[in-house]
Order: sequence, then C-alpha cells, then structure tokens
Amino acid sequence: MGIHPDFTTDPQDWLIRHGCEAPVFFFSPKVLADTALFFEENFPGEVTYAVKANPAPGVLQTLCRAGMRAFDVASPAEMAQVRAVCPEARLHYHNPVRAMSEIATARGHRITSWSVDRASELDKLGEIAGQEIAVRLKLPVKGATYDFGSKFGAEPEAAVTLLRTVVARGGRPSITFHPGTQCDDPTPWQRYIEVSACVAAQAGVRLHRLNVGGGFAAFRSTRAPDLQRVFSAIKQSVQSAFGDAQPALVCEPGRAMVSEAFTLALGVKALSGDVVFLNDGLYGALMEWRDIPAPERITALAPDGTPRRAAPMPRTVFGPTCDSLDRLPEALPLPADLQEGDRVMIRGMGAYSQCLATGFNGYGQPHLVVTE
Ligand SMILES: *Cc1c(COP(=O)(O)O)cnc(C)c1O
Repeated sequence: MGIHPDFTTDPQDWLIRHGCEAPVFFFSPKVLADTALFFEENFPGEVTYAVKANPAPGVLQTLCRAGMRAFDVASPAEMAQVRAVCPEARLHYHNPVRAMSEIATARGHRITSWSVDRASELDKLGEIAGQEIAVRLKLPVKGATYDFGSKFGAEPEAAVTLLRTVVARGGRPSITFHPGTQCDDPTPWQRYIEVSACVAAQAGVRLHRLNVGGGFAAFRSTRAPDLQRVFSAIKQSVQSAFGDAQPALVCEPGRAMVSEAFTLALGVKALSGDVVFLNDGLYGALMEWRDIPAPERITALAPDGTPRRAAPMPRTVFGPTCDSLDRLPEALPLPADLQEGDRVMIRGMGAYSQCLATGFNGYGQPHLVVTE
C-alpha cells in the first residue's frame, strides 16, 4: 500500500492533482480525534478502542495522541501494534480463547486484564491474583446487524459459576459483553446490563467493572446514528439495575470510533449497459459490503471533480478481479450519467475495510492519503 504523506485538505483536489487511477483511502486524523473526544466526553466511563476495526499505525497514533490509554486487543500482533505507538497503554486482552503461547506473549506485554467464557480457558491463565478477569456473557438478543454471541460467551448460569471461581482464585471480577455490531438501538445494552446485574447478584460478587463492549453504530444510511441516546440509556440501566453496587463502566468501540475518519475513492474502470466495473470490490476494501452496505453514502464525481447529478439507476457492480464472485450482492444505485474514468466516493469507510482487503489477483491494496 503506497502512503502519501503530503497533506491535502480535500480528497477531490488531491484526485484531480494526482490523476491517480488506483483506489485511495483518505484518512482524516482530525475527524478521528474529534470522535475520540466525543466518546470521551459523553460515554459514562472509560473509552477503549477495539483495534481490529482498523489497526493502521496512523489510527492508533491519533487515538494515543487524543489521550486514549487503553486498547482492546485480540492477538499478539495487535499487542505489538499498540505498543509500537503507545508504549504505556493498558491492553485488555478480550479474545476469550487463547493458545498458551499467546498467554505467554500477553504476560510479556504486562497484560493484567483478560476475558473468559469457559472454565478451561480460565484454568489456562493459571495464577490470576489481582488481575481483572471479565466474564464474557452471552444472551440471545436482537438489534445488531450481526450477532456476536454465536461464537463467544457464557450463558448466565455458567457466568455465575465463572465469577465465583474468579473471586475464589483472587481475581478481580468483571463482566463483559458485546451486543453485536452496528447496533443503533439501546435495547440490547439494556437487556445485557439487567442480566449482568442479576448474574453478579446471584454469584454474590461485587463487580470491579462492567464492559459494555463495542457495537455502537457507524453512519451507514441517510442519518448519523444517535450515540447520545445509547449512552444515556446505558447510564440509566446501570443505575437502575445495580443501585449502590454500580461498577465502573468501560466501552470498546471499533466501528463507531473509526468509520467517519476514512473516505474511500474508487474508480470506474468500465461501463456497459447497467454493469459497472470498479477498481476495487468484495476482495478488497468492500469486503464488508455484503453484510453492511452503505449505498446512501456514495457520490460520483467526473474526473474534473464535478458531481454527477443525474437520477440514480440500479447497477450491477463488479470488482476488478477475474472471479465471478467478485460482485456486490445487491444492485447499487449510481447516477445515470456515470462514465468510465469517474470516481465513486464512499464516506464512512474506516472500519473493517482497509484491514480486510486481500491482495487477491493483484488488486485490493488502496493507497492511503492523509488529509486534515
Ligand atoms: C470486534 C469487537 C469490538 C468492536 O466492535 P464494533 O462493533 O466494531 O464496535 C469490541 N469488543 C470486542 C470483544 C470485539 O470482538
């Protein structure tokens, strides 16, 4: 991936000046820092960042400079990525299934905060006195674009037993959950918080912390999601469910933290009838489009930067590889006056995009340009 460090204020200007035909990500550290500040000022607890959404060094560096001091990591590689730019950060190792070698690496990184969802993985941690062990809870809740409870998590009864074991071994007991990604309604958090309080009460344990996960929605349709509404609902639920035994709160947004900081500029390679060939697709930065499309966040520009304004018409969109699966699952509405050589600009592409792009068939490695 080519990195163009020259600062530009405007992606359109950059594209006109450079006439670059490859896909380009425009990254705005300012938008990211503002989003971090928004979370910091409005979420009623500690804000950490889920590194997997976008581990680019510029992203981690911007968050560190914006004051973030704790990160949610899932692998040794992510630990090293955070340490490289933010050596003093606290790392929450919230992948509940770990190889012994990964546990050893984590200890080398001075990790003292872990999540578990089964007794065998708690046993693997060995000595846990004084360390935070967050029991990962799972519930059958609806509201997210896709569900995170299908892989990890202990059901309430098992969570009660795990919490008791953590306390018996001298660990600091917390609960963590993930309501599912791109969740714009507070209901799943409310439900999880109520059950967390019951689980803690049943275990007879006062929680050290309650980690309400990620899942906060990014701007994917016509309106930005109302995160304030979700934060207030979380705060209220914790007050009413825990009363005077309120734990400190933590959240770990990935998607909502980083999405708006990136705009993806793709190029139209060819047009024929209602078929459009773009220079990137499902094997590249649009990997997630199948599950979470954002057709409303697209604009099309002529090579001189003029917006294409004709009414949209549905197009079949292929990516650049020679694989027939490289096709967006739904027709995409693109302006009727779209032409070969035009740019398709997609806003809000910072999460699960750059990091998922493969290099299949020699495509899918967009340039990165830093903007203001
Ligand atoms: C992926 C993940 C997150 C971030 O989820 P988003 O939906 O991107 O906010 C947070 N916590 C854990 C444990 C995760 O696996």
